[in-house]
Amino acid sequence: MKKITVIGAGTMGNGIAHVFAMKGHHVTLMDVDAVALDKGMATIEKNLSRMVSKEKISEDQKKETLDRIKGAMDMEEAVNGADLVVEAATENESLKLDIFRKMDASAGPDCILATNTSSIPITKIAAATSRPEKVIGMHFMNPVPIMKLVEVIRGYATSDDTCNTVMELAESLGKTPVEVNDYPGFVANRILMPMINEAIYALYEGVAGKEEIDTVMKLGMAHPMGPLQLADFIGLDVCLSILRVMHEGFGNPKYAPCPLLVNMVLSGNLGRKSGKGFYIYS
Ligand code: NAD
Repeated sequence: MKKITVIGAGTMGNGIAHVFAMKGHHVTLMDVDAVALDKGMATIEKNLSRMVSKEKISEDQKKETLDRIKGAMDMEEAVNGADLVVEAATENESLKLDIFRKMDASAGPDCILATNTSSIPITKIAAATSRPEKVIGMHFMNPVPIMKLVEVIRGYATSDDTCNTVMELAESLGKTPVEVNDYPGFVANRILMPMINEAIYALYEGVAGKEEIDTVMKLGMAHPMGPLQLADFIGLDVCLSILRVMHEGFGNPKYAPCPLLVNMVLSGNLGRKSGKGFYIYS
């Protein structure tokens, strides 16, 4: 795996590019939005500088890592010659299907196409390509340079070869991969999102205030972050979209998103990334 392409330079994409480049891979980071691409590159630089100041890496390692990452805005050019593409674009099904059709047309026949989707079925994404056996979920956690877990999701047609390659690759990045099957929400979000949704319901119904709900879960359950804080961190739009996929996928009303979450997303209060969610961020 020499050349890795990451599609989408947002919260997750720049973190994924960062960890691959740190381990010596040549990375192309592609985004359709020039501002997002610049911001993604600047975030990598900032995060590497923080590692230098904490003496985790040297100034030379920072420079070498940055030298291995190049930005791109053209999908065809970015995917051409890649051994692995990790798609980390906006969580939207039709957008991802379109991206996978384009990636499939531009990538070499041996290239593995992975998606960082939080909830969209891998089997559906794979069916949009001519190589479903080479399509897989590679679900990194946020913040990518710090979090150890990679949920590796096998679609219905994913081959053993593809799965083994991706498991080994994730381990080589210093991560702990866990193999799971392709059902709505996989494992991580199937358990996390109902908890976040319930915390939002507790706020909506006036059971307690936001700080109180978060404090109960932090101190009572030893969670490093409260569920409302975590929802802000993930992005309320991302949480809503995952809940909708689970609601539709299982046809079970227990996954129906809380109306407060829906209203907050409609009003543009998306959490940390928009400056306001359950909390205000300067
Ligand atoms: P984000 O909104 O921060 O970034 C998405 C980026 O994709 C944006 O920069 C956007 O310009 C870009 N994009 C949109 N269309 C594109 C296209 N056609 N080609 C290339 N780039 C395109 O989103 P994010 O939080 O980084 O999420 C990305 C993916 O990772 C989603 O599938 C999400 O579900 C998943 N994910 C998110 C988290 C999280 O905590 N945010 C955690 C795990 C997985």
